[in-house]
Amino acid sequence: MNLQAYSLPLRNRFRGIDVREGLIFQGPVGWAEWSPFADYDYPEIGQWWRAAWEAAYLGFPAPVRDQVPVNVTVAAIGAEAAHRLVSASGCRTAKVKVAEPGQTLNDDLERVEAVRDALGPEGRVRIDANGAWDVDEAQRRLTALSRFELEYAEQPCATVEELAELRLRLARSGSPVLIAADESIRRSGDPERVVELAAADIAVLKVQPLGGVRRCLELAERLGLPVVVSSALESSVGLAAGVALAAALPELPYACGLNTAAMFTAEVTAEPLIAVDGMIPVRSVTPTPTGWQADPATQQRWLTRWSLLPEDLRRNGE
Ligand SMILES: [Mg+2]
Repeated sequence: MNLQAYSLPLRNRFRGIDVREGLIFQGPVGWAEWSPFADYDYPEIGQWWRAAWEAAYLGFPAPVRDQVPVNVTVAAIGAEAAHRLVSASGCRTAKVKVAEPGQTLNDDLERVEAVRDALGPEGRVRIDANGAWDVDEAQRRLTALSRFELEYAEQPCATVEELAELRLRLARSGSPVLIAADESIRRSGDPERVVELAAADIAVLKVQPLGGVRRCLELAERLGLPVVVSSALESSVGLAAGVALAAALPELPYACGLNTAAMFTAEVTAEPLIAVDGMIPVRSVTPTPTGWQADPATQQRWLTRWSLLPEDLRRNGE
């Protein structure tokens, strides 16, 4: 297995990083990516490897569509920059990061307002708080933000119990804001609890953290909720797995969060999976020979990390 570390700079700081790193390699049936974030350890990173193994050795289930609609992702940037970004994206749906540490509700309101203005009344605006708020704060902020007609709010609170409480309160107060669960699906260890507690209207699925396209399809069926497929900020090699999941789902009522290659200033391929007119085509990705490799120290750090996975898992994906 020829594992090669990549290093891709981000246009704007995102999730606390300026450079995205990971491993890519070519298996018998296709290119694969393993890129758990630095704050993930075993056994969690084992799920990420199962996804990479699937891409390399099994390939993806048959698609039922040949392109998938995606949102433009707006980091916690200023209102003017957000407006420009969304206007230039060609996407009809925008996902706006809110609740950035050090920023205020007013920063969020201005950013979301600018995005709504850029999309017009027909566009869809969703927000992602990454679990930053308690229930009171979430209710207060979502009530304020709902004037811009939110499609849904992603992970407004950290726990499944809080999401359930918030959802109940919003319904009682007549608020139309839907709740999407992201971290509660992929990091709680018990995604079904989201359904048991009626904590969300929508499930966000990410291929790497959930162990591959097949596992995601099975989970989607068990959950019985509409699914939004999102990336884990992968290179286009990893994104292809997310696109494959979105392409294989029986129903796809929402735009996916898969246009994140647009956030890099370099890519592992000459033909990155970046949306044209808000759509990403369903296709495989082949890296270019040069232009994306990490420095030797980074390469070594990733190989060391990979070598900490159990040998059976590394070899057989199980
Ligand atoms: Mg999220």
